[in-house]
Amino acid sequence: MKKFIIIGAGILGASTAYQLARLGADVLIIDRKHTGQATDAAAGIICPWVSQRRNQAWYRLAKAGARFYPGLIEELTKEGETETGYARVGALSIHHDLGKLSKMEERALQRREDAPEIGEINRLNESATRALFPLLGEGYHSVQISGAARVDGRALRDALLRSAQRNGASLISGEASIQFHTNRVTGVIVNGNSYSADKTVVCAGAWAGELLRPLGIRFNVRFQKAQIMHLHVDDRSDTGAWPVIMPPSDQYLLAFDNQRIVIGATHEDEITGYDTRITPGGMQEILNKGLALAPGLADSTFHEVRVGFRPFTPGFLPVIGAFPGWEGLITANGLGASGLTMGPYIGYQLAKLAIGMEPDIDMHDYGLGAAVEQGES
Ligand code: FAD
Repeated sequence: MKKFIIIGAGILGASTAYQLARLGADVLIIDRKHTGQATDAAAGIICPWVSQRRNQAWYRLAKAGARFYPGLIEELTKEGETETGYARVGALSIHHDLGKLSKMEERALQRREDAPEIGEINRLNESATRALFPLLGEGYHSVQISGAARVDGRALRDALLRSAQRNGASLISGEASIQFHTNRVTGVIVNGNSYSADKTVVCAGAWAGELLRPLGIRFNVRFQKAQIMHLHVDDRSDTGAWPVIMPPSDQYLLAFDNQRIVIGATHEDEITGYDTRITPGGMQEILNKGLALAPGLADSTFHEVRVGFRPFTPGFLPVIGAFPGWEGLITANGLGASGLTMGPYIGYQLAKLAIGMEPDIDMHDYGLGAAVEQGES
């Protein structure tokens, strides 16, 4: 049986491991659980259809990612994984400007033609909007997208890892370094022990560049810091059923079970190294924007702040594939701000690629060449 090592167990590595294990492969997962793992901090919005991004290759991946979820959750549930953190609660794209909402509704209706999973698209007035998310400020109308969902990245990642292990995969905690002989990757060293593999799959998010440097591979992954805040509200209603709130700004609101509300997040490019500090500036931005959207949160209880690094590859487009000039080494990266949406689907494609099956996507669109330069690092 062919052996696969997966480095990194965020949403991408966990999904790849899950799929490979289900395909009957021999899988070893290694995760360092770096502080700042993106999956650990992610908000969890799955609603790519109203995005104004024009890049079609990105949209195809995001759309396929959202479509992939219900089947995956059903599979996991059948295996006994009931805590997947996924709920199809719908989203409200909110605005004060009714003209802007009309354009958004138009875009969603157009996109539904080849994405029926968008579900119902409804225009809601102010009171109908607030009835669904009672903490919202005044004056917001909305477009409701019933097929949108939210997912708790930690819960889904853990469900995938548990399931992979039930299907025979092993998981080791520690930092992997890659072992290679001329241009062939032979496995990894972790905690002083060496493990061999036919293929090593790098799912290392923001840390992939440094992991690959000893091979002389310059892998152009940069990362954006995000701080995100979790609050508790007293509202006794079932917050777990509340929709995702997508405002016109770069902030959002999500509700989870047990009165938990998530607001955020920051987009910090100018950072030095892996800076996981929680900063007053970050908190100010989140609270200013979040409380303007939902003034009712001013009297909620602060719970925690999470910090994560969104991994980006050039053009803000994910890359997937084998490293040119290398044997036994494949990767995906650059899941950016929509990695929870795309991660399970890309993991499935990566598993297919690893095992020699034909992926369902046009790999040319996401070639590693965009992010790789060979040579001295
Ligand atoms: P990561 O989750 O960062 O995982 C990489 C893993 O690799 C880590 O565990 C790390 O420790 C491990 N690793 C690295 N190097 C090594 C090594 N040498 N040895 C062992 N292990 C190693 N996406 C959405 O779709 N919707 C959202 O609403 C959303 N909100 C977000 C909000 C925030 C605040 C953030 C930060 C991100 C958000 N995202 C969202 C994006 C999404 O979270 C990321 O794109 C996705 O989680 C990236 O997953 P990944 O597996 O590639 O990387």
